[in-house]
Amino acid sequence: MKLYLYNTLTRQKEEFVPIIPGKVGMYSCWPTVYRDPSIGNYRATFTADLIRNTLKLLWYQVTAVMNITDVWHLTSDADDGEDKMEKWAKREWISAFDVAKRYETIFRDGMKQLNIDEFDVMPRATEHIVDQIELVKKLEEKWYTYVVEGDGIYMDTTKVEDYGKLMWPNYKKRLEELNAWERINMWGKKHPTDFALWKFSPVGEKRQMERESPRWIGFPGWHIECSAMSSKYLWQQFDIHHGWADHITIHHPNEIAQSECAFGKYPWVKYWIHNEFLQVDGGKMSKSLWNVYNLKDIEEKGFSPLDLRYFYFMAQYGNFQNFTWDWLEAAKNARRSLIKKLKWKYVSVNKSQIETYEFYKKIEEFICDNINTPKLFAEINNGLKENVDWLHHVISYLEDKFLKLGLFEQEIVTEIPAEITAFADQRIQAKKDKNYALADELRNKITELWWNVKDNKDGYEIEKI
Ligand SMILES: [Zn+2]
Repeated sequence: MKLYLYNTLTRQKEEFVPIIPGKVGMYSCWPTVYRDPSIGNYRATFTADLIRNTLKLLWYQVTAVMNITDVWHLTSDADDGEDKMEKWAKREWISAFDVAKRYETIFRDGMKQLNIDEFDVMPRATEHIVDQIELVKKLEEKWYTYVVEGDGIYMDTTKVEDYGKLMWPNYKKRLEELNAWERINMWGKKHPTDFALWKFSPVGEKRQMERESPRWIGFPGWHIECSAMSSKYLWQQFDIHHGWADHITIHHPNEIAQSECAFGKYPWVKYWIHNEFLQVDGGKMSKSLWNVYNLKDIEEKGFSPLDLRYFYFMAQYGNFQNFTWDWLEAAKNARRSLIKKLKWKYVSVNKSQIETYEFYKKIEEFICDNINTPKLFAEINNGLKENVDWLHHVISYLEDKFLKLGLFEQEIVTEIPAEITAFADQRIQAKKDKNYALADELRNKITELWWNVKDNKDGYEIEKI
């Protein structure tokens, strides 16, 4: 079946045709590792995973790269301000490297909890400084750069004829607007859209994470790492670049400009895929509103990270998704009822078998339509109404390769909640009183909460369903 993906570069759904038949190279921009990742950050990681799993489901051989920005992220896109890592390190009294390492570990643990496999290559920016320097040098040799004394090496965007094309349609007009707005913050740059490729360390101040380049003491600008590392692991032209929608105006146009000028391959990337933001209660997720939730917050409220994974599936990746605790509850219930219906009956199915099922073909159709997960789940829930064998076959197959929702894993619970024991005690009493209707009602209550009560000679025993 042909896969159609929405390409930001052309602003339309396009048939996916990889550069090399059967093989796909994809790159995702990773969030910076300087704080506890929020459930919003994980929506991007989930999307990268979703794209990779889709391609694998359709039998492509995928190389997925996700960078780890563990260095020198500035406070804004404007190439100024204090280094974020250092700011946090100062606050927490540990070195910038430790901050990066600590949050990287937290992030990778979170991925595991969400059943997101590691990506094939997860290169750290700090370990690819030489590659970044090489790329800056290449751009210098081709006369795309200029030096701002005491500041850094800048990319001259006016030398790139189609700079900003990712902002299409009317990108020239959009660029004019941006330019007018940014003209106030030029900081010695020649043009508002020019950006730093390499920054010199401020005189008299030494940053913790600086490196000595052959020519200058300094550190890379924040766009260059993506071009340097993607070209290293995926060659100088590749199929898919994924990232946040807010990178459409600055970060990604800059990546395109520096890569196409350095490598001379057009287009540098064939398909640009962007996921939209996760909102909270219909608004922005922000520290000042106290609504930045992470996986720990989710678990403290009694949800599994896999309930959150189900929640992410409920929206199309390219649309805004609104997070509320009620919606998470709905996701949790839907996941539970799916588990209940499947009764842990996992069936191993192979490719030729699965392709004979009409139900699977329908599911595949939704996946191939720009990965339309809401429709896919509606179809699954429809299918659940019929209790037939092939449903188990199809869902088992999808679970392995695509859903990864823990649908066939029994939760290990060692402690029996007090509520359940109380119901069981009341039930024994009801039986003694010969009030069998009440006894049955209590048994149902226990079952609804996913426990089973069995009578034995000592009274009863309780086990997890
Ligand atoms: Zn990037």
